[in-house]
Amino acid sequence: MIKIKRTYSPKALSKTNRDFKSAIANMSVREAYDFYKEHRKKYCYNTAETKHHFRKMNHERCSFCTQFIQDFDDAMTVEHIKTKRDFPQKIFQWSNMLCACSTCNTKRGTRSHYPRKYLDPTKITDIEKYFCYKIDGTIVANNTLSNDDIAKAEYMIDLYKLNRKNLVCNRRKFMTDLMSDDKFYEKLNLMEESSQNIIFLSVFA
Ligand SMILES: [Zn+2]
Repeated sequence: MIKIKRTYSPKALSKTNRDFKSAIANMSVREAYDFYKEHRKKYCYNTAETKHHFRKMNHERCSFCTQFIQDFDDAMTVEHIKTKRDFPQKIFQWSNMLCACSTCNTKRGTRSHYPRKYLDPTKITDIEKYFCYKIDGTIVANNTLSNDDIAKAEYMIDLYKLNRKNLVCNRRKFMTDLMSDDKFYEKLNLMEESSQNIIFLSVFA
């Protein structure tokens, strides 16, 4: 995962958020969620406007696996940090939304939100420090951190299945290619970067 700078809230989304919240004001959580399901056509969050904001924010990458999302406009999905079922009042709240590839979104499914463990890449400035990339392509928690922080990283890796086969293969190939690049290898030796930073230097810098 990498740090993402959140844009201001899309205008039409803010309005939908206000309208929806006033419509469900006197409802229980269950009623509000059912109301949302019934009126999905009227209240939308994954609009052209939202996609435009996410494109700017994420540079077409998934917030979790950080892979490019092919055919961004069609294939990007909106991940709700606090799930729609548990927090219907936050369905249209911009700060509760992240852009995800459909696989990361599906892997989490409807698993609930644990605020003490969830790492929001738009809120945690040094989110990169939580993870290490190994040469075999796996991503692991940075074991130099506190037990609490390690648990957070492991929770995120498990929640979005960040060690699924194709991600591991892609990362491994990426690492192998880097290692065979003499110029890059030299630069790395000079900088004494960790394997974690290899990724950032080359891809995200
Ligand atoms: Zn993803």
